[in-house]
Amino acid sequence: MALGLLKQGLRRSYKPQPVLPPRPELKSSYDVVIIGAGGHGLATAYYLAKEHGITDIAVLDKGYLAGGNTARNTAIVRSNYLTPEGVRFYDESMKLWEGLSNEFDFNIQFSHRGHLTLAHADSTLRTMRWRAEVNKHMGVDSELIGPEDIRRLCPHLNLSEEARWPVLGALYHPPGSTARHDAVAWGYAHGASKRGVEIHQHTEVTGFRTEGDRVTEVETTRGNIRCGRVLQAVAGASSQVGAMAGLRLPIHTVPLQACVSIPMMPFLDPIIVSGTLHTYIWQTGRGELVMGGSSDPVPGYMTRSTLDFKEGLMAHVMELFPFLGEVRLNRQWGGMTDMTPDFSPVMGETPLSNYYIDAGWGTWGFKATPVCGYRMAETVAKGTAPDILKPFRYERFDTFDQVGERGAASVGH
Ligand SMILES: Cc1cc2nc3c(=O)[nH]c(=O)nc-3n(C[C@H](O)[C@H](O)[C@H](O)COP(=O)(O)OP(=O)(O)OC[C@H]3O[C@@H](n4cnc5c(N)ncnc54)[C@H](O)[C@@H]3O)c2cc1C
Repeated sequence: MALGLLKQGLRRSYKPQPVLPPRPELKSSYDVVIIGAGGHGLATAYYLAKEHGITDIAVLDKGYLAGGNTARNTAIVRSNYLTPEGVRFYDESMKLWEGLSNEFDFNIQFSHRGHLTLAHADSTLRTMRWRAEVNKHMGVDSELIGPEDIRRLCPHLNLSEEARWPVLGALYHPPGSTARHDAVAWGYAHGASKRGVEIHQHTEVTGFRTEGDRVTEVETTRGNIRCGRVLQAVAGASSQVGAMAGLRLPIHTVPLQACVSIPMMPFLDPIIVSGTLHTYIWQTGRGELVMGGSSDPVPGYMTRSTLDFKEGLMAHVMELFPFLGEVRLNRQWGGMTDMTPDFSPVMGETPLSNYYIDAGWGTWGFKATPVCGYRMAETVAKGTAPDILKPFRYERFDTFDQVGERGAASVGH
């Protein structure tokens, strides 16, 4: 990175490098077809090329590069989950995040903020203590702290005992971070395409042809492609694409909204989450407040913004930071979240012998982008999922082996 900067400084003119070459013609066959050019699909293509030398890959997207949930999320990255399986998995992602800017030679604006999940009731304090102990056991930095420590970390938070829901304590996770979501996708796309991977935007997958237990062809709006192996990484459309391959997924899709304020003076270092108030908030380097909360009340595939969401969220934000009542909102948007019954993903092999799945990313999949790419690449290259992915296997819903992350994955992202 330092050498790259020096070279840039000494250069007289700067020629911007396009992230991708012009879109190539679609070939009639590829070794690997990846459906979905979001962070997960692109990261898998990148690690397949880099770690396994597999480059005859087409990444197909019905829209544009990372225009799905990758472009719509609120960029929170953390590993303080509830189950040992979840903590181990997200912690591996954190380790990959730390090195990504250097790996891409491209600043993804990864920023350590610290993450505070507030407890407003005794029952929540008990869950926080449980999470802190599981985290520490797994080597992840997490601690239950009281109001005085919270005040030191976030002096502007309303810690009054007169509040409707007074803050009793918090789960403090110092590694909690944010990163620029587009930059992550561009970094993986650039690295993959430099190694020979083809990225085909505006190419929708409409069906599959199968023989026995194998997918032989992927049908697209630009013609059919013969394929060696296929990965679906289409958060927000997992059940629909899965159904085309004959897979039934225990997923329902629910819209999730978020919003951002006008820029303000920096006053908020950590990421603040309150499950009780259905609210989270953090401040970007430009001073905007990024805010979100619960999913919409009914399943659907809309990405529309609603007044109802904004009114509810703002009422709760003002309970935590009453002085924000005068602040104007700049933007509001929505995405689609594929929710599983246990709030954990579905990853690995499927009943089709050459068809792999990376799905069920609900409200929590951005932080998993590097580890998903790394481990799904290993799965596709070797044909079997590594141990770290096994708890998230497709069949776990038949065998009642769920990985219950509800207490750690919903509003907190
Ligand atoms: C408002 C909001 C806030 C969030 N905040 C956070 C957060 O703070 N932290 C966190 O960890 N997670 C968060 N998430 C979740 C996170 O955004 C997703 O889990 C993650 O982006 C999934 O990445 P992906 O690459 O799997 O999917 P996507 O980025 O959605 O990519 C899937 C791609 O598949 C394409 N596709 C779909 N169907 C087809 C088809 N038939 N043919 C071809 N292409 C197809 C789509 O066009 C899309 O580009 C949030 C989500 C939302 C909506």
